[in-house]
Amino acid sequence: MRNRVNMIAVGDELLEGRTADTNSGRIQRALGQHAVQVAGIQVVPDTKEAIFQALDRTDVGDIVFLTGGLGSTPDDLTRDMVAQWAGVALPQDDAVRQQLEERWKRLGRKVGVGVQRQCQVPEGMAALENHVGSAPGLVGCLKGRILIMLPGVPSEMEGLLPAVVQWLTDHGHLPEARHTLLWRTGQIAELALVRKLDSIREANPELQWSWWLTDWGVDVRLAVEPDNKLGKAQLAAVEAPVSELLGHLVYSRQMESLPEVVGRMLKAKGLTVSVAESCTGGLIGASLTDQAGSSAYFRGGILAYADHIKNELLGVPEAMLQKNGAVSEPVVRAMAEGAQRQLNTDYALAVSGISGPGGGSDEKPVGTTWVAVATPEDVYTWAYRFPGDRPRNRLLTVAAIVDSLRRSLEFGPGQVPWMADDSWCRT
Ligand code: ATP
Repeated sequence: MRNRVNMIAVGDELLEGRTADTNSGRIQRALGQHAVQVAGIQVVPDTKEAIFQALDRTDVGDIVFLTGGLGSTPDDLTRDMVAQWAGVALPQDDAVRQQLEERWKRLGRKVGVGVQRQCQVPEGMAALENHVGSAPGLVGCLKGRILIMLPGVPSEMEGLLPAVVQWLTDHGHLPEARHTLLWRTGQIAELALVRKLDSIREANPELQWSWWLTDWGVDVRLAVEPDNKLGKAQLAAVEAPVSELLGHLVYSRQMESLPEVVGRMLKAKGLTVSVAESCTGGLIGASLTDQAGSSAYFRGGILAYADHIKNELLGVPEAMLQKNGAVSEPVVRAMAEGAQRQLNTDYALAVSGISGPGGGSDEKPVGTTWVAVATPEDVYTWAYRFPGDRPRNRLLTVAAIVDSLRRSLEFGPGQVPWMADDSWCRT
């Protein structure tokens, strides 16, 4: 059983500012439940010296992840360097070769020369099939370390992580899981959330608290090491009070995204939704259709950026647009009603805002965003004043409106989708 983890991200592009190393964070999250300590993350270029030095800095007993450099181009050195560093041969593996050849055939392509290198597996290591791309993951024990080599492409790397965690678990290389609790919240600022929890936090010093911003809001996690009995008791005792305190802010207790939660609710209730988007330019529709199976509840959307499109496709009266401006309560209400009517859905979401950097005024500063949720019973409207720049304001708008739909579905018919004590960014 090992508990020290080292990560080595290999790739010139990571040192030239072209690509940020996101793989290390994903690996940490995949191991998050287990009581491992990440000793360090090294980001190194595609050279023999750098890869050797990075491996030399790890210790006997470590679990070492290497990502990148498993492709078939001459600059992909990781597999060869690990074999050289450990002093083992690098033979071709027939089973891996067959898998790769079958993959190329399925894609209707000729088997490329790259297969020669990608089917090499260092002696003492095993291959894990890559279902997203070609280069397999490689796992095994060399020079007293548990070495894990994964492709650099994040989707391929992530696709392999469950198999890696399974392999580590099956071989007894991972310590027991930490005891953890998670609350995923929407529509509250990080500091406000932390303040809410102050007194529970102070009364329970054995618990490890962490919170972080996500695309959908703020996550709160509580953790206790596997052998901490007092901590386990405190963890059990705080679950109900924390849940009660966070109440309607919580959209999930598991690692699932807000659109996933909303999609599941719509599907279970047999309800449909459409969108009328202005400032978000299609991002709300994109987030709702990100989910496999979304055709069961998502009907479509009208991307009404220009005023005359709001008028022609959503039926927003021209006089209303002129009198109130596009970013206003009556307009966003009419947009939601228009989408609900035109697309014949139970719910419709509409947004119209000033994302910035230009377009603001004293009356409607940058960040002002009107939203509407049309439900089967009524249309609810309200405004936010988001504090970010253009990209951030657009993402905050998506998170806020999708969470408002979640609340509408959760609170039941006729309920306003926000609660009186929510102060988050509302004007
Ligand atoms: P390929 O078969 O595509 O060559 P590979 O395993 O050799 O895969 P690299 O060539 O090192 O991987 O990286 C492929 C791409 O994956 C890079 O161009 C980069 O965009 C991305 N990538 C690599 N390493 C990381 C990382 N640590 N974090 C995020 N993205 C990464």
